Amino acid sequence: TSSAPSESLNNDVSKMANDPASIVKKLRDTFDDGVLETVEKRKKELQAFERMVVENADAFADAMWKDLHKPPAESHAHEIDFLVGEIQQTLSNLKCWTAPTKVTRYVLQALDSAYILKEPLGVVLVIGAWNFPVRLLLSPVVGAIAAGNTVVIKPSEISSHTSHLVALLVPEYLSEGVATVVEGGPAETTELLKQRFDHIFYTGNPAVGKIVMRAAAEHLTPVTLELGGKNPVIIDETADLATTARRLVWGKFTNAGQVCVACDYVLNLHPDKEAFMKYVAEAITEFYGIVPKDSPDFGRIVSKRHFDRLIALLSATSGTVAIGGNSDESTLFVGPTVVTKVSEDDALMKEELFGPIMPVIDLETLDQAISFIRKREKPLALYVFSNKTKNVDLVTSRTSSGAVVVNDLIMHMSLETLPFGGVGQSGMGKYHGKYTFDTFTHEKSVLNRSSGFEKILFMRYPPYTESKLAW
Ligand code: NAD
Repeated sequence: TSSAPSESLNNDVSKMANDPASIVKKLRDTFDDGVLETVEKRKKELQAFERMVVENADAFADAMWKDLHKPPAESHAHEIDFLVGEIQQTLSNLKCWTAPTKVTRYVLQALDSAYILKEPLGVVLVIGAWNFPVRLLLSPVVGAIAAGNTVVIKPSEISSHTSHLVALLVPEYLSEGVATVVEGGPAETTELLKQRFDHIFYTGNPAVGKIVMRAAAEHLTPVTLELGGKNPVIIDETADLATTARRLVWGKFTNAGQVCVACDYVLNLHPDKEAFMKYVAEAITEFYGIVPKDSPDFGRIVSKRHFDRLIALLSATSGTVAIGGNSDESTLFVGPTVVTKVSEDDALMKEELFGPIMPVIDLETLDQAISFIRKREKPLALYVFSNKTKNVDLVTSRTSSGAVVVNDLIMHMSLETLPFGGVGQSGMGKYHGKYTFDTFTHEKSVLNRSSGFEKILFMRYPPYTESKLAW
């Protein structure tokens, strides 16, 4: 059941939002006072965080429905359950993750102890994006708190219902001085970025990623940038087309294609183009019905700006709209669309699509597909559908991307033992599970020297006489 957050909290939040300097100062004071100094204190906050998510699961799903028409089943599975899983994982591993790690010593350190201490960074900033407005925002916060940092949380203003809900709930559940939510768009974020943080974790587009990195450079603040790009899907001649089509359609059209690791375009090497399109059309109908607009399971475009962008791309393509292509401005609906006969320099190939439009480019050989990908920026994810190990090995070894998934889409995100992040233009740094904890942790080297051995250390001290050098 959803709790009813009070108006006064809302007012407090908006008052504080006007003054980023005092928000950061307060969080620095509480950090210095040891608000998250011990594992027990961090666990208490993480347990409260879990209660916040679980007790308000329906309210979160409702907010995401309003923001994105996100089906409640997807909100629960892809956002809420994922987040709860991350919190529980973190809670059960926290003692082990925070423990000092002993390192190998050699004869010179035989009497010493050498270990790595896990030290929190201080006050960190987490900036979320709108497409997975709960998980992308709050999962880094879990790791930041687990590592002992106090946090400024900046939700995306575009998913405004979710943003308001997070702003209302966080102060109700977390202790004062652990985390503060600052709502707002570019203006508020610009002000926030002037402050000195000890780490900035940003999820969003590469253009804003550069703004974040520039601002961080001013204070020599390290950044994690979870960005986007054009994720290719290669379908080779050995792929099982029926299964490929279902997995592809699911991974492309979930959240109306507004997924950072969605398929952006298909490089089709399979000779049976007709069968491929038939299976794709069947999967779309099976998942979303004959009229996807009436399906409760098909999302909407988040804003008029993004809707207009997608419609402009569709009218600029010189490819053939083979499936879909229909839209409705009043509800920001763009139907599941497949465009074939797309050329390399088509409008659809110039920028990340981030919507339910799937261009298909027909190629002959795997070498062509690999060099097509290598000519472009390194993607966040690369997918290959193949039943030939040699082809899979060639793709994984000769291309660079944040991740590779074979014979499916997106699923690497659900395995928190795999680090999640980009490379090159698709981002820097990584997170999920222990990797999130590590992102917000300084690994401090400690060498605790014994006072012994002084006599045999004589040769390291000047003057460097002949006899010492000969020793
Ligand atoms: P967005 O518009 O929500 O922006 C992201 C954040 O940047 C928001 O909090 C926003 O307030 C802030 N912001 C926007 N303009 C700013 C400015 N001028 N100065 C400072 N801050 C500003 O989200 P978006 O960028 O539209 O998200 C889509 C992009 O994010 C896509 O490129 C997608 O691939 C990428 N993405 C990446 C991941 C990932 O995990 N790698 C996940 C989701 C989305």
